[in-house]
Amino acid sequence: MSNITKDLSLFNELVEILINEESKSPVAERIDASKLYDTIDLSLDHSPMIDEEFKSLLSTILVSTPKTATNLFFNQLFGGRQSKAVLGDLLAVLLNNSMYTYKVAGPQVGIEQEIIRKSCDLVGYGSQSNGTFPTGGSMSNYMALVMARDAKDPSSRLDGVTEPMVIYTSKESHYSNAKNASFVGIGRNNIRYIEADSYGRMIPEKLEQQIKEDIENGGIPTYVNATAGTTVLGAFDPVDKIADITEKYNIWLHIDGAYCGSVLFSEKYKHLLKGVERSNSFSYNAHKMLGTPLTCSIILVKDKRHLYNSFSNDADYLYQTDGDDFNLGKTSFQCGRRNDALKFWTLWKSIGTNGLKKIVEKQFDLANVALNYIKNNSDYTLYSFDDSISICFNYKDIDPTVLCTALYEHQITVVGFGSFKENTFVRLVTINANNEQQDILNFFNVLEEFVAKNPKLSRIKEKSM
Ligand SMILES: *Cc1c(COP(=O)(O)O)cnc(C)c1O
Repeated sequence: MSNITKDLSLFNELVEILINEESKSPVAERIDASKLYDTIDLSLDHSPMIDEEFKSLLSTILVSTPKTATNLFFNQLFGGRQSKAVLGDLLAVLLNNSMYTYKVAGPQVGIEQEIIRKSCDLVGYGSQSNGTFPTGGSMSNYMALVMARDAKDPSSRLDGVTEPMVIYTSKESHYSNAKNASFVGIGRNNIRYIEADSYGRMIPEKLEQQIKEDIENGGIPTYVNATAGTTVLGAFDPVDKIADITEKYNIWLHIDGAYCGSVLFSEKYKHLLKGVERSNSFSYNAHKMLGTPLTCSIILVKDKRHLYNSFSNDADYLYQTDGDDFNLGKTSFQCGRRNDALKFWTLWKSIGTNGLKKIVEKQFDLANVALNYIKNNSDYTLYSFDDSISICFNYKDIDPTVLCTALYEHQITVVGFGSFKENTFVRLVTINANNEQQDILNFFNVLEEFVAKNPKLSRIKEKSM
């Protein structure tokens, strides 16, 4: 047997162990961070480890690692496991191409381009559009900002930023916006955080007011980052109204759909993106709502010339054959780039666009199960809104930070907390489309049982108002 065949049969054995463990104990046995190196032997030594010990160590590591695919993991904006996507990712690892040239990636180039083309069609971007697969949603925001900067002042590519550029996003947007402002040379002090309404959506009137003020003060409005699915509440900024403003003042509009941009695939929920075709760029993470393995992030650009202008560089040692349309390195931030497209393609191909729609709509169905449960139970206070898969609540006025940490430390369920304006709450994310109604009800059940057994959990009510 070749080494790879042997190792793949070991892989299969380990998969068996993991799957079994996931159903037996959906929350991994937690190792206190301070005891990690004493609990598992992670040391790297001079001599090799013998096979049997190696296997047993790997299986220990597997069962101790947080289990993100189970029905009690609600902590993050990803979860579950779409097996056809896992299959594609495993094949991508075996093939080990790099996506920069057709010479090295062959048909994988077409696979990536087909996803981008179909996504552009869904957005309504037209024939001049294209895109790429960045390393994630943060990088998508970054690439959009670089294009916006270069579009506003082409000389900034050569001379750096010399104009007083100003950029805009909502107070509820992703934190990568702040870092990106610094990386791109515009500076953190030149972001304006626009106030959100009571639903967590950017207020367009406030945006316009701020733009006018900046222009009066000699600033150059360059970029607006609107969010489709804010990280805490899952709110959708009003794209159409924001586009009225960015068109009027000639500002690049990027839609950060990392979390919920995949509503693109649902006729029922696509209206949440109304006006998206008017944006200059749009990004979404297939590893969030669509459930592919991390990472699978896509940025689409209405006019592909911006991608080339900002990201291509001549490199004779690399681009030796085939045209620009097949040498994807010309539109990428990276040089070597892993194949993030194949896993999305195997999923999409095997279940169709209709299947992707079902994955998206299932999450809203599960969110409604949670919403109804909370609304019908007076021990709960609700903080989130309709059309969101982030269900935010408090239970019996228990401090949510204390509750979430206790649930995690006792290996009950993994869920996080968030804040909006003056409130802090538990945030249940129903993004795992493998879950069913009973899994959501079970979440509330284990939470309530845990609280009943731990009456000492502190209460927020007592803090002075
Ligand atoms: C998750 C998220 C991001 C960041 O995406 P990464 O792939 O984790 O870098 C950006 N914006 C929003 C709204 C997100 O929810």
